[in-house]
Amino acid sequence: MNQPAGNVYIVVAPSGAGKTSLVAALLAAEPLVELSVSYTTRAPRVGEVDGRNYHFVDRATFELMIARGDFLEHAEVYGNYYGTSAAWIRSRLAEGRDILLEIDWQGARQVRELFPQAVGIFIMPPSIEELERRLRGRGTDAEEVIARRLAAARSEIDKVAEYDYLVVNDNFDRAKLDLISIIRAQRLRCDVQRARLAERLAHMGTARSDWSA
Ligand code: GDP
Ligand code: ADP
Ligand code: 5GP
Repeated sequence: MNQPAGNVYIVVAPSGAGKTSLVAALLAAEPLVELSVSYTTRAPRVGEVDGRNYHFVDRATFELMIARGDFLEHAEVYGNYYGTSAAWIRSRLAEGRDILLEIDWQGARQVRELFPQAVGIFIMPPSIEELERRLRGRGTDAEEVIARRLAAARSEIDKVAEYDYLVVNDNFDRAKLDLISIIRAQRLRCDVQRARLAERLAHMGTARSDWSA
């Protein structure tokens, strides 16, 4: 797939770091970015809505979808399958929309292969102890699920060098502002702006025909 018109943002974090809360706050502030709703075989948590948080499917359906090539990427994470719809992403990017993927590190690697210019954002908890407090405080996961997620956290944090940006989610509002700043800075990049403002730049007097090069 060629580099698309829209930007692709990938947000990765150890479970419980605050990724979902931060992304929800970001999307409320920056409605131009659209969230990809993943498919998963995980059971819905209390309050999660099918089609909004995830498309919840059983293992047989997910495996059928893998075989059909429905996923841009998929991975097994903490014992469940998760995957990103290829058709949705392709249609949004073809329209020049910015999209955000909330996926795990394995999926992030796959997407970086397909879209080398994707912007990788890693969200880190202030400490492992605080991560554990948040996972318990969220009150959505069984003890064994929490243990499994905590056990994975250190090796996830070890991969931080694979990302372009690192946000520490200590103070929520500051982390939210950091996330918004990343998106805004990306939009203001000269190469991105020149493509978006081509007509205006031409009208404003540049005689160069190669300014967009
Ligand atoms: P939470 O992120 O801790 O709230 O827990 P979830 O059960 O919702 O997600 C578990 C992990 O799966 C997280 O690391 C997610 O980022 C990841 N994940 C969610 N959707 C996808 C997806 O479509 N593809 C991949 N590869 N990972 C995903
Ligand atoms: P993730 O999607 O990364 O698993 P969540 O967004 O579900 O994480 O957040 C995990 C828990 O931590 C939630 O109960 C959330 O309200 C809480 N939380 C998120 N950010 C902060 C923060 N900055 N300080 C304290 N608690 C937080
Ligand atoms: P959620 O229910 O998705 O975890 O959080 C909903 C909203 O509550 C978030 O968008 C965010 O504004 C706020 N929020 C969640 N957790 C925290 C937190 O620990 N600290 C602060 N300051 N706000 C939070």
